[in-house]
Amino acid sequence: GDEIKAEMVDELAKKHFPLCMWTLHNSLRRDHHLKHFGRLNYGLFLKVLGLSIDEAIAFWRKSFDRMTDDKFNKEHKYNIRHSFGLEGKRANYAAKSCMQLLTSGPSEAGCPYRHYSPENLQTALLSAYSSRGLTSADLPEIMATVKAAHYHVACTRVFEMTHSTFGLKKGEGVGGGESVTHPNQYAAKSMEFYK
Ligand code: SF4
Repeated sequence: GDEIKAEMVDELAKKHFPLCMWTLHNSLRRDHHLKHFGRLNYGLFLKVLGLSIDEAIAFWRKSFDRMTDDKFNKEHKYNIRHSFGLEGKRANYAAKSCMQLLTSGPSEAGCPYRHYSPENLQTALLSAYSSRGLTSADLPEIMATVKAAHYHVACTRVFEMTHSTFGLKKGEGVGGGESVTHPNQYAAKSMEFYK
């Protein structure tokens, strides 16, 4: 897609990210750090979103602003280049799908609809989406879907609710009845509504 600049990520996270990637972005901003799986999953998501290698390095360098250049260069620069296929096996790693994030362990920065407690999930939903029109009146429907273990359905419903100002209705999913299967699909579909 179009190239995304490091300084655009805060705004994009607020408007377009699914809850999994929003929570990683939010933790990164709060803690000035992210654990291994968070860095991996979020880094690959940002690559597919459209950050070039230079913008990705700029993004992570600025985000880890309590770290020395030396530590950043030694511990993180290689891994970022690696995830772009520029080091090691030079594999072009794909960003993880919902299926992979749903089946990964709770400590592996997976899907919050699956891994968060009901209390934490509701708090996260309101922090992430109240600026996009979600209210506490929307929570019972989402939580009932989560309770029935239909996690990606809950995520799809949240997409519909937060894009209803564009005329998106229940059952239309991310458009054309398609449901959420990948965090990058979620973000790309959301960005299309704003074009
Ligand atoms: Fe992320 Fe997929 Fe879970 Fe939505 S259903 S929060 S896109 S992993």
